Amino acid sequence: LAEKKVLIVYAHQSAGSFSAAAKEAAVEVLKSKDCSVKVSDLYAMKFKATATAEDITGEVKNSEHFRYAEETKLAWDEGRLSADITEEQRKLQEADLVIFQFPMYWFTVPAILKGWFDRVLTLGFAFTKEKRYSNGIFKKTKALLSFTTGSQETMFSPTGINGDMNVTLWPLQNGILHYCGFQVLAPQIFWAPADAAPEGRSAMLAAWNTRLQGLLDENGTWLLIAGEEPPMLKEVQDTLRLLSPPLEGLSAVKT
Ligand SMILES: Cc1cc2nc3c(=O)[nH]c(=O)nc-3n(C[C@H](O)[C@H](O)[C@H](O)COP(=O)(O)OP(=O)(O)OC[C@H]3O[C@@H](n4cnc5c(N)ncnc54)[C@H](O)[C@@H]3O)c2cc1C
Repeated sequence: LAEKKVLIVYAHQSAGSFSAAAKEAAVEVLKSKDCSVKVSDLYAMKFKATATAEDITGEVKNSEHFRYAEETKLAWDEGRLSADITEEQRKLQEADLVIFQFPMYWFTVPAILKGWFDRVLTLGFAFTKEKRYSNGIFKKTKALLSFTTGSQETMFSPTGINGDMNVTLWPLQNGILHYCGFQVLAPQIFWAPADAAPEGRSAMLAAWNTRLQGLLDENGTWLLIAGEEPPMLKEVQDTLRLLSPPLEGLSAVKT
């Protein structure tokens, strides 16, 4: 069996954080499964978060009216994207599984990770109008959001003050990952580790360890709702679940 390649895109400033512990657990378990694991530690790399003309080496086509998607498409065609973007694209292209590990910021990812999405998933490289969703460029690659929150699980239910977590994750899971074709695995949610007792935090990491053992065999069928999918029962069910009660135990690790 060919060795599986895993990329962990990690966005936390502190090596003492719970997010760091979750990232380390993934590195350890997946390496023990004979995977090759690469980590893009975005803060340590001082990864640039803004999509600007500096992401292109050499002349831009239209400096009067700079258009990021079109200019980066051209630069990608001609091998003129900046070295940091090219390096991330190479890692992504090789990966069988990508894990995004981050603390939830304002219902989404920290800016540095949003910048990674903006800058790495360029037109042509990650998607085109013809190649998206089930026909997407990354349809053979699995992707997973693994993140910590400050909120308790009950706050992210349809009746909780924050509303349904599935709705919260829709822009990330569907609008970014599935749009580029990724098979989106169920998210790994570490609810409010800062408020948990030490045993609660250990239990969350233990559950993650257990899941990691079989992660590469999981199927990305959780998220099949998108315009261009065939109308299958599973999708209808998923749509209904999205609109109504929370997905019980949506791989969420309970404290
Ligand atoms: C700008 C901003 C926006 C935010 N927006 C939101 C939001 O929209 N929704 C929301 O819910 N939250 C939000 N938060 C809160 C944020 O999501 C949480 O603070 C964060 O997810 C906590 O994760 P952490 O990795 O930083 O944990 P930490 O605070 O680093 O760690 C929690 C605890 O785990 C301990 N720990 C570390 N390593 C281990 C280990 N190996 N074993 C056991 N324990 C360990 C730490 O010592 C600490 O006590 C926001 C925060 C910020 C700064």
